Amino acid sequence: MAFQTTARHKFPDSVGLAKRHLEELRRRDFLQGAALIDGRWITGDQRDVVVDPATGEQIAEVARCSAADMALAIAAAERSFAAWRDLLPERRGAILRSWASLMVAHSEELAVLVTCEQGKPLAEARSEISYGAGFLQWFAAEGERAYGETIPSHKPASLLQVKMQPIGVTAAITPWNFPVAMITRKAGAALAAGCPVIVKSAPETPLSALALARLAEEAGIPRGVFQVVVGNPIELSAPLLHDPRVRALSFTGSTEVGRLLLEGAAQTVKRVSLELGGHAPFIVFDDVDVEKAVKGAMAAKFATSGQDCLAANRIYVQRGIYDAFVEAFAAAVGRLKVGHGLDAATDVGPMTKLSVANKCRAQIDDAVAKGARIFSAKQDHPYGRNFVLPTLLSDVNDDMLIATEETFGPVAAVLPFDSEEEVLTRANSSEMGLAAYVYTDNLRRALRVSEKVEYGMVGVNTASFTGPPIPFGGWKQSGLGREGSRHGIQEFMELKYVCFGDLTAWEKRK
Ligand code: NAD
Repeated sequence: MAFQTTARHKFPDSVGLAKRHLEELRRRDFLQGAALIDGRWITGDQRDVVVDPATGEQIAEVARCSAADMALAIAAAERSFAAWRDLLPERRGAILRSWASLMVAHSEELAVLVTCEQGKPLAEARSEISYGAGFLQWFAAEGERAYGETIPSHKPASLLQVKMQPIGVTAAITPWNFPVAMITRKAGAALAAGCPVIVKSAPETPLSALALARLAEEAGIPRGVFQVVVGNPIELSAPLLHDPRVRALSFTGSTEVGRLLLEGAAQTVKRVSLELGGHAPFIVFDDVDVEKAVKGAMAAKFATSGQDCLAANRIYVQRGIYDAFVEAFAAAVGRLKVGHGLDAATDVGPMTKLSVANKCRAQIDDAVAKGARIFSAKQDHPYGRNFVLPTLLSDVNDDMLIATEETFGPVAAVLPFDSEEEVLTRANSSEMGLAAYVYTDNLRRALRVSEKVEYGMVGVNTASFTGPPIPFGGWKQSGLGREGSRHGIQEFMELKYVCFGDLTAWEKRK
């Protein structure tokens, strides 16, 4: 049976709408709160509550696992390692592909779940499921191509070989803004490499992670190879950091927590990959079509209701088209519909965490107090404190909080600039270095600016560039390592150099 289609509801109906969808999820067994540890579903004595960020209504209860539960998961992962490592890559790939197919087959259930616990519009949640399944398919194939190399020998009668081997038990600590795709982007790579994975999902969005675990089990991932442990982040991350059996840690989240984890992982010298915060400059030169640039800025700013590490945080517009850009941008922002993500008309949902909404409000207040012009209603939306009305701030300057601090919400900051040199200096002034956008019709300028921006990913005349084939990751304090692409699997592999010496002796033995 299909989910009911959602006609335009007024917000008060959204509680009922969500209830009907949740009932359907429960009936299909997609609303379960038990953790998956060592092949068993653990409910435990303690429970946490998951709420719909749009309505504040309780969705479900989930297990609150303890540090002891995490220790069991680490031991189970360690036990499962050898058999998983020794499977042929082709066989691991087949299991990953089955998992991806199950995600696609249950895309609607997973998308509804994501919308109910994370808040994003359903259409975006559906895209996330297909994006997330794409990583499993991509890495299923990459695992089969994890080639080593043979080095031309610098020693007489020797064979110099470099092999790629799985690093071992891997911990994945994941955020709430992409509760499905950030798990598959890490787990797909690690599992394809031959490593068992323990996921510690964000407490705001455990249900999507547990639904993925259910599908992983159905796909045939063996006991202990993929586990999901839910509960208090500090309590659960401590054993992951301190246990020497955990060889790799992959984290997506804030730079602040990333630093703490890097420090914690130093004690056992783990391989650490970090996808952290962003503060993307979005640079619009005055040779470009204004409508095209506004369309890009809308996508780069308001996707995932602004709760996206790739979100355009500083929209620099060259003075020649500044007024026209601001006018067209304000009109587009004004057309955005705010509401429950299950409502088909919604463009911008709630902030998943109240703290994110409060940060947006503080940045708006700060900018207005320092002279920015505001183009949307400043007051809170009547829907509730987790909602932030899409807001455009223009005439923003470098001294305002929003020019230096990640926003992570639907608040756009537009800053005027005069020259290419000036904008490059300002764009690169951030300690973050995840993504940058450049809009220009001048090819030489596009080449120059994309070369000079200090960011790990650059979109030239586009706001859409992610996907399994690209190396996702940041420079400076935006992270370490890469996810996706052929590079992503290497975060979970060790190089082993083997020198076979004295080959002539083998000849003699023949
Ligand atoms: P967060 O850092 O608070 O949380 C991320 C994860 O870390 C969650 O699982 C959380 O439970 C856990 N965590 C939090 N505090 C912890 C602690 N002291 N010890 C151990 N684990 C802890 O970040 P968030 O609020 O969930 O996500 C928003 C941030 O993440 C933004 O800054 C955003 O830019 C960043 N982000 C980056 C990417 C990327 O790919 N680069 C993607 C999504 C989000």
